[in-house]
Amino acid sequence: MKPAPIPSNEVERQKSLEAMSVLSTPRDPELDRITRLAERLFGSDIVAISLLDNDRQFFKSRVNLSVSETSRDISFCGHAVMYDAPLVVPNALEDERFHDNPLVTGGPEIRSYLGVPISNQQGYKLGTLCVIDGNQRNFTKEEIQTLQDLARWVETVLALRYTERSQQQLLKDLDTAQRELLIDTLTGIWNRRGLEELLSREISAAQMKKTPVGIFMLDIDHFKSINDTNGHLIGDKVIQSISEIMSSSLRDQDITGRFGGEEFVCILPGLRLERMMYLGYKICETIAEQCKVPNKDGEQISVTVSVGATWVSPQTTELYGSEQILQMADDALYKAKQAGRNTVRYLPLDAHGSLEVLDEAPPESPAV
Ligand code: GH3
Ligand code: MG
Ligand code: MG
Repeated sequence: MKPAPIPSNEVERQKSLEAMSVLSTPRDPELDRITRLAERLFGSDIVAISLLDNDRQFFKSRVNLSVSETSRDISFCGHAVMYDAPLVVPNALEDERFHDNPLVTGGPEIRSYLGVPISNQQGYKLGTLCVIDGNQRNFTKEEIQTLQDLARWVETVLALRYTERSQQQLLKDLDTAQRELLIDTLTGIWNRRGLEELLSREISAAQMKKTPVGIFMLDIDHFKSINDTNGHLIGDKVIQSISEIMSSSLRDQDITGRFGGEEFVCILPGLRLERMMYLGYKICETIAEQCKVPNKDGEQISVTVSVGATWVSPQTTELYGSEQILQMADDALYKAKQAGRNTVRYLPLDAHGSLEVLDEAPPESPAV
């Protein structure tokens, strides 16, 4: 048997899991609904949402499983989180990792296993949603896709229930007239005042939770010439299109606003630095690909943006105010413009960030 490996980012992963307070909460009816549905869809003997917590796997939701935890080293899920793709084990007896595992040789005598990793919003893999059978089984492509869809649902439930959301809180605190003052009329996203209010709330929340906050300042490239060539109305459509793309590219708790004329700000709570940089490049790429506004002759105008990024580390949330953070993101934006536009530049607020490693686009989403 191969014991479940420990991911290279285990310390941060465990901390991020603990910060969600998902381990010490009662049974969650919504998660139970998902495991029940998986049982019906797969006709499996056992279904579980397993979370890897220090040296145990804790079953946050379980169907036909009498124990609430097992040790981590014998867990199948401990293997599954090492991969980005689902872990498919048609016959554990023929798999060198599992053939003499006590969960295979003894109760519950696992023969087949299908597990899909579940990540939190910071991108850490918390555990899996898995279906287990006492008989060997070949899972079809459709079945694997079904479990992946259910796993995304689990992630959504975890994100909704176990993260605080400053945007919702701010909306609750204000009446309709007050809210309208914080929304940009052209795009329907937050305006500068709204952004400043939300940034200070996010900084306070990050101080309490000891979590990081990422910031992007985006500016449309050569927008003056887009306006000059096509007129202000078409320029306005470009601004609207970019705000829609940004809102749909980010996570629910991320905050997008229009900071000024053709400048936008994104506030990204809880994101790791590498993940933030990955997102920055991704947004540049998505806007260059998807921002399709036709000019008067019906031809597509090509639009790109430059992104300045900065990041408040969990150790330094007390040290920087909104103004300094926005200024640093603006300085980074200037660097992105100097670097040729349609790119991202990062400037650290403190010694915890490192400039050198981040001037290149990460090749793909950093492995967790
Ligand atoms: P750079 O790549 O350096 O950012 O070049 P740029 O042409 O985008 O530079 P600059 O920031 O000087 O130009 C911004 C232009 O954005 C000038 C202004 O006319 C236009 N603008 C600002 N607000 C609006 C708006 O609400 N609608 C439209 N259509 N244009 C706007
Ligand atoms: Mg500008
Ligand atoms: Mg510009």
